[in-house]
Amino acid sequence: MNNYDIIVVGAGPAGVSAALEMSQAGAKVLLLDEQSSPGGQIYRSITKTSPELLSALGPSYSEGASLVNKLAPSKVHYQPCATVWQFGDDGILLYSVDGQVTQATGKHVILATGALERPVPIPGWTLPGVMTAGAAQILLKSSGVVPEQAVLAGSGPLLYLLATQLIRAGSPPKALVETQTTSDFIAALRFLPRTFAAWKMMAKGLDLMREIKKAGVPRYKSARDLTAIGTTQVKALTFEAKGIKHKLDCDSLLLHQGVVPNTQISRSLRLEHRWNKRQACFHPFTNGVGLTTNDTYSIIGDGRAIGGAHVAVLEGQNTGAFVAASFGFQVDPDRVFKLLKILEKERAIRPFLDRLYQPPKEILTPKDETVVCRCEEVSAVDIRDYAKIGCLGPNQTKAFGRSGMGPCQGRCCGLTVTEILASENKLSQQEVGSYRIRSPIKPVTLGEIAQADDDN
Ligand SMILES: Cc1cc2nc3c(=O)[nH]c(=O)nc-3n(C[C@H](O)[C@H](O)[C@H](O)COP(=O)(O)OP(=O)(O)OC[C@H]3O[C@@H](n4cnc5c(N)ncnc54)[C@H](O)[C@@H]3O)c2cc1C
Repeated sequence: MNNYDIIVVGAGPAGVSAALEMSQAGAKVLLLDEQSSPGGQIYRSITKTSPELLSALGPSYSEGASLVNKLAPSKVHYQPCATVWQFGDDGILLYSVDGQVTQATGKHVILATGALERPVPIPGWTLPGVMTAGAAQILLKSSGVVPEQAVLAGSGPLLYLLATQLIRAGSPPKALVETQTTSDFIAALRFLPRTFAAWKMMAKGLDLMREIKKAGVPRYKSARDLTAIGTTQVKALTFEAKGIKHKLDCDSLLLHQGVVPNTQISRSLRLEHRWNKRQACFHPFTNGVGLTTNDTYSIIGDGRAIGGAHVAVLEGQNTGAFVAASFGFQVDPDRVFKLLKILEKERAIRPFLDRLYQPPKEILTPKDETVVCRCEEVSAVDIRDYAKIGCLGPNQTKAFGRSGMGPCQGRCCGLTVTEILASENKLSQQEVGSYRIRSPIKPVTLGEIAQADDDN
């Protein structure tokens, strides 16, 4: 009953594309996602969005409907509200829907679990009223909720996109405080590729900037020393830009420093990961078609390397076609090769974006007083002190002070802990490594764990 040819985890652009590709080839496919509707981060709630919200979210959001609408008439067995929390080497996994645990087995499993926002640990980032730009966008997409007079701070394309979405939703941000500098732009220029896809994306970016300018939203560039001020609630953001100190009063501060692959599952499977200097994060090691160091698992989309939604779709089709063909289903023999060629062009803009929006050092290795592990309230100075008394890796910091042991399971502090230890111990990030992740991948109840033992 619960045996499938292929299981796909994650119904974002990558997972939906892979599932459709394999199902069309004749494979029996299970597609699991913890959200209540398909679309992933970029197309979240697209099947339920009102026309007013659709127009605020813009054309890059609306275009997701054509992909997601292919799912219902297909033969893909799509299970929403399914949180997958345990994975075995052999393609056996456990997921919960409304507290009911099910075991499913795939001859092959494709992980399409996307990205997480990079943590932005600045002093005061744990104050109520401070959240990530992505979190604010989730509220907008899923409930139409907008913050009033929010200050957006950090860097990356999502910051501009959210600013324009807030403008169109009738609640323009108070200001944009950007950490990237002119030197970042000049350094990035040498990566500007001569491809149509890159210019198309640049043009989209410039359109967003024009919209922000037209709405009269002030932009502060080359910002440093970002600090959220307040005692029980954020009251202001202070920073320095071009030698001038600023204080912007606000009760919503939205931080962003780009996104990084969500490697919680791939690390729980002990797959090989490598530090990617350009994106300043760990990537699961995969071959050209997304196969990992365990033959039963492939990884596609932003969970493999940050590439954006179009790359995610192409990777889904490419890996989907390859996996389907390798299990004997009918696929055009040239399809994998053709898709790889298109992918190469579509990925060409990445080095430019990665260099332009490189996170500043004060974010990667924050000031001493900054809380790093929000769940267990461990500060940067604590991690530095552990290093001074011989702590070499993130897993040992757990024994020293419980960092990474709270409900977020290291998602919010993992990269910062690696960076601080690398800097203090004069080691590379690869040598320092990352937290060891164990099941359950997501918080579940003891009842669910007991059910897993009883029923499966
Ligand atoms: C908060 C956030 C907002 C973003 N907004 C935009 C945007 O507006 N525009 C844009 O161009 N890019 C945006 N991005 C970047 C975006 O993630 C990618 O461009 C694109 O969505 C990647 O597609 P994907 O299929 O690889 O992953 P995603 O779209 O992220 O899909 C991954 C899916 O996996 C599911 N999942 C993860 N873990 C589990 C689990 N254990 N069990 C079950 N399901 C699981 C998630 O619910 C999600 O639906 C955003 C990223 C983030 C983190």
